[in-house]
Order: sequence, then C-alpha cells, then structure tokens
Amino acid sequence: QPTMTAKIGLVGLAVMGQNLALNIAEKGFPISVYNRSYEKTEAAVSRAKKEGLDGKLKGYQGLKEFVMSLEKPRRVIILVKAGAPVDSTIEGLMQFMEPGDIIIDGGNEWYENTEKRKEKAEAKGLKYMGMGVSGGEEGARNGPSMMPGGSPEAYSAIKDIVEKVAAQVDDGPCVMYIGEGGAGNFVKMVHNGIEYGDMQLISEAYDILKTVGGLTNPELAAAFTDWNKSELESFLIEISAEILAKEDDKGEGYLVEKILDKTGMKGTGKWTVQQAAELSVAAPTIEASLDGRFLSGLKDERVKAAEFFKKYGVSQPEPVINGSPESKQQLVEDVKHALYAAKICSYAQGMNIIRAKSIAKGWGIELGNLARIWKGGCIIRAGFLDDIKKAYARDPDLPNLLVDPEFGKKLSERQDAWRNVVKLAIMSGIAVPGMTASLAYFDTYRRARVPANLVQAQRDYFGSHTYERIDQEGWFHTVWSANN
Ligand code: NAP
Repeated sequence: QPTMTAKIGLVGLAVMGQNLALNIAEKGFPISVYNRSYEKTEAAVSRAKKEGLDGKLKGYQGLKEFVMSLEKPRRVIILVKAGAPVDSTIEGLMQFMEPGDIIIDGGNEWYENTEKRKEKAEAKGLKYMGMGVSGGEEGARNGPSMMPGGSPEAYSAIKDIVEKVAAQVDDGPCVMYIGEGGAGNFVKMVHNGIEYGDMQLISEAYDILKTVGGLTNPELAAAFTDWNKSELESFLIEISAEILAKEDDKGEGYLVEKILDKTGMKGTGKWTVQQAAELSVAAPTIEASLDGRFLSGLKDERVKAAEFFKKYGVSQPEPVINGSPESKQQLVEDVKHALYAAKICSYAQGMNIIRAKSIAKGWGIELGNLARIWKGGCIIRAGFLDDIKKAYARDPDLPNLLVDPEFGKKLSERQDAWRNVVKLAIMSGIAVPGMTASLAYFDTYRRARVPANLVQAQRDYFGSHTYERIDQEGWFHTVWSANN
C-alpha cells in the first residue's frame, strides 16, 4: 500500500540522481526514489535525513511500490547509465505505468535512442522526454541547467518542478522546452562538445604561460583569478584557478603537476564532432579538443617519441620569455585575448551545429534562448553567454557569431595578440591546436576568396566534376591536358 503520494519519482541514485532527487525534495516536491541496487537507495534516504529533508524523499525497494507511490499522471526521471541500462529501466517501469504517465530520461543519451524510445513509449500511451542535465554533482544538488526535449505535454506536466529545481539567473530559470524528439539530448551533447573546446583552450593557455612564460603555479593561479574578473569570467576559469593553486598532499609541489596527462572521455564530444561532419558544419576547435584527448591517450608512444626526436636534435619546448615581470605580464594579457577570441570561434561552431540540426529536424530552436539557459548551472556557464544571447537578440538569423557587431569588434581588437600567442607557441614547439584551429576558422571565414578554386580545378581535372566561374553563369568542364 502506498504510504506517500509523491509528486515525482526518480530512478538511478548514483552521483547525478541522488543529488537531483535531494534538490527536488528541497524545492518542496515530495519525491520517491528507486535504484537497482538497494544500497544506493538507503544512502539517498539517509542523506536526505541528514540534510533535513526527512519525509520529503522516500526510498523503495521494489519497482512496483515505487511506481504506485506516485501521483497521477506519474512522472519518473531516469538517471542511470546511458544506453542499455535505460532500456531495461524503461521496460521495468512500463510493467506498472499506465497511459498518460510520463518518463523523462535525464542521462547523456544519444538523441536517436531517445527518439526510438519515445515512439515505443507512445505506442503504449506513455509520454516520453530526453532531458540533458548539466552541472555535475554540485549543479544537480543546487540547481543544474536542464535541456528537456520530446513530448510538449510531458514538459507541461513537469514545468513547475524543473523551473524551481533549475539554476536561477537574472533572466529566469536555466531550463526551457528545447524541441521535439531528441532535441534536448542533442543540445546537451553539443553543450558538452563546447565544454571540450573550452577545456582544451584553457589547457593551452596554461601550457603557454607555464612552458613558454615560465610562470609558477601561484602566478598561474593569480592570472586565472584575474581573468575570472574579466570578460573570461566563467566556471571553468574559476575552478582552474583553484586547481592550479592546490598543493599536493602526497608530496612536494602542486597537485596538478602530478596528474597523469591522459584524458578520459565518455563520448558526447565525439558525437558532437560526428554530427558536425554529418551536417557539413565546420567545427575545427571542437574537433581539435577531441583530437587532443585522443593524442593525450597515447602517453607511452609520446614518451618514446620524445626520446626518438631528441636523437635528431628536435628539442623539448623551453621558456623563451626572458622571465621579467613585465614580459610575463604582457604574455598573460596576450593569452587572455587569444583565449577569448578562440572561445568566440568555438561557440560559433557549436551554435551552428545546433542550428543546422534544428533546421534539418524542424525543432525550431532559438539560439539566443539556448544561450540564456546556459548562463547558470552548467559547466560552460559564463558571463560571455549573456553576450551570445544579446547577439542573437540583435539578429536571430545571424549566420555566424563572428559577424555580430559586438563580437566582430572584439575579435578584431584581439587579433594581434591572438596571432602573437599562436606564433610564439608554434615557434616554441608547443601545440595549441584549439587556438590555432579557431584562428584558421576566423581567417577562412573572413576571407572573400579562398584557394578552393584550385581544389575545384583538380576535381575537374581528375574526375570531370565540373566547376563554376566567377565571371559567367553555369557549370564548366575543361579538358586540362592532352592525356586527360
Ligand atoms: P552512472 O555512473 O552513469 O550510472 C550509474 C547508475 O546507473 C546507478 O544508479 C546504477 O545502478 C545504474 N545502472 C547501471 N546499469 C544499470 C542497469 N543495467 N539497470 C539499471 N540500472 C543500472 O551515473 P551518473 O554519473 O550519476 O550519471 C547518470 C547519467 O547522467 C548518465 O547518463 C551520465 O552520462 C549523465 N551525466 C552525468 C554527469 C556527472 O557529472 N556524473 C553530468 C551530467 C550528466 P546500480 O547502483 O544498481 O549499479
């Protein structure tokens, strides 16, 4: 027999689920929770007690009792491992749920899986959503950014809950209905791709300042702390300042310098790059960040290659800045500008991936509104997102953020510093693939004529692919050589 009528239920009580459930309970919505293994349910219940949420969060050992405890139409958020675990969880729920009930998958799911599951659920009269949740553990507990897509009726049924649970910024809660089908998951995926780009660019800034500029960790932390009071203000810069200053508790020096240079990943960045290619949208900065992760994984090979090239006199990067406080200060200033300019290009790419997909799928996503819900709660939260929101408010059909008047001006002002930093890094043998890719994106996009004419001529030469002319209408083919 049900002992409590809960407003909503949540299945999956690992990091994200447990924290989101507590957040929902705290915002005044009684919640039922369930997890495949009962220990996590017990842990969530005892944490709820500790956090003064006794009676607002109830754990269930059986799926049936869990479902029966929910107010109708029943609303269940799933936060289990993406992929097959979501399918088996849905199957379990479907045994007890009834037409009109709602399932919301909050995981980082591939958007097509959501579209398939939505169809299956609808065949049984259920409503289905895929809702990206960003902000990690802390966001889930105190206010994440949420990107729900799928059934609009399902969104209406959870709107009052998610609007209270989401991070709150000056212009509202960090959640809105994204669009039909897998729109919510798709947008969350690109958010993560943009996050990859940001992290790559920040790591390049750190590398230049440390390796070329010879900055110490306290100097690096001070530079990042200063940056966080500038146009670079963001969650990732803020945590990087803290990370750089953290002393190692297991030995001498700073912890970050003891961490193995090998990056993990779970797939959303790769999907973003695959989708960019699928949609024929250039996303070189995000791609560079993915390649950076692939190459970081080849630690053993890189160690051997460093030895290998030493034999040929290819030396390791060395500081080239003379170490004076002025020169360091100038470098910090230049890198700040390079980082900001490169970041604009990266966001332009991410936004254009979303727009292309939205057009292809008829999702009707408004990019400015999307920038608004990323202003708080999520990992890429930054003052900068308000500028993006404003750019799309000025012109909703802006083809590229680079040609917004404000961003265009900012890029132009930072051009020299950006080029200097990239040049310095290249001459010092330090790869800055994100900053370089962004610069190439800018330099290509802003040029009226690029060398694609030669590529077209080659294609026509070997494959009779034909070409257009700049001075006459039509398609042309040339017999380029007597042997052709
Ligand atoms: P996770 O490590 O991805 O998954 C663990 C949860 O999945 C546990 O509750 C586990 O239950 C359950 N599970 C695994 N296999 C299952 C199966 N076959 N049947 C039923 N349940 C199964 O958890 P998470 O890190 O909290 O992430 C949840 C989702 O949010 C994922 O899609 C993740 O990508 C996404 N996400 C995570 C973060 C983050 O910072 N961690 C941020 C944003 C989004 P048991 O306890 O029984 O093993």
